[in-house]
Amino acid sequence: MRIVLLGAPGSGKGTQAARLQAKHGVPQVSSGDLLRDAVARKTDLGLQAKAVMESGQLVSDDIVLGLIRDRLSRPDAANGFILDGFPRNIDQANSLAALLNDIGQPLEAVLLLDVRKDLLLQRLAGRRICPKCGAVYNVMSMASGATGCTNDGAELYQRPDDKEEVIGKRLEVYEAQTRPLVEHYTKLGLLRAVAGEGELDDVFERMEAAALAKPVPAGKVTVRATQAKRAPLKTVAKAAQKSIKKSVKKGAKKVAAKAAKPAKKAAKKAAKKKVVRAKSTKKASKKTSKPVAAKKKKSKPVARKK
Ligand SMILES: [Zn+2]
Repeated sequence: MRIVLLGAPGSGKGTQAARLQAKHGVPQVSSGDLLRDAVARKTDLGLQAKAVMESGQLVSDDIVLGLIRDRLSRPDAANGFILDGFPRNIDQANSLAALLNDIGQPLEAVLLLDVRKDLLLQRLAGRRICPKCGAVYNVMSMASGATGCTNDGAELYQRPDDKEEVIGKRLEVYEAQTRPLVEHYTKLGLLRAVAGEGELDDVFERMEAAALAKPVPAGKVTVRATQAKRAPLKTVAKAAQKSIKKSVKKGAKKVAAKAAKPAKKAAKKAAKKKVVRAKSTKKASKKTSKPVAAKKKKSKPVARKK
């Protein structure tokens, strides 16, 4: 199982990754955790990262990729990994692909945990945390009137970045970052969207199925895509031609009906002739629709005066 996990804040990505890790014995590799760990253990890369962060700059991709390479070479990653928090852009995705090819462990899937935006907002804004034991609650599922931790009674608090005005911004940043990655991995045939709403167990089953599904070879994806595009196009074109012909006839009849009674028969014949004569159906529809449009225009100024 070699996967990248994509999911908005509040999508439940962390919970699901932990369950995949527990059941399948593949480590969850979070770029944030790797950085903190390397800094704490004062490894070469950790010391480099620390110096960069202390100067107020972002840690370079090279450092993060170095940390990922080290992490994936450990024995517990022999059966795969769940990458979380990396990549965040196309450059990083390409560097990651090169690294994984280099160590002979190419990605098998990119899972996108999909949750509606209003539900994300609800989950994040309702989140409360115990300052003592770190337990996470949600006001939506807490007993009414309860404000304390059920473990130790400590007063729960809301993280500053879970305030509603901040959440909106976080979700915007996530969407802007993720959209190009979704396109990128879709093109590569790796992306699998997983519905992230509903019971945790059901979501987990879907995640697992998506993670274990065999990758579709890139060649097959393109063949399928072109077949899918070509077949409907023909039928769509035929259906469109039919409906255009029908609507042209209908339009002609309407125009004819609105004409003065003596002219009715003549108009019908004329309209039919126009349709028959017209080489392209477009021309015919233009001719027949003009009188109707003109009538509508005339009535507008009257209505405005009132
Ligand atoms: Zn507590």
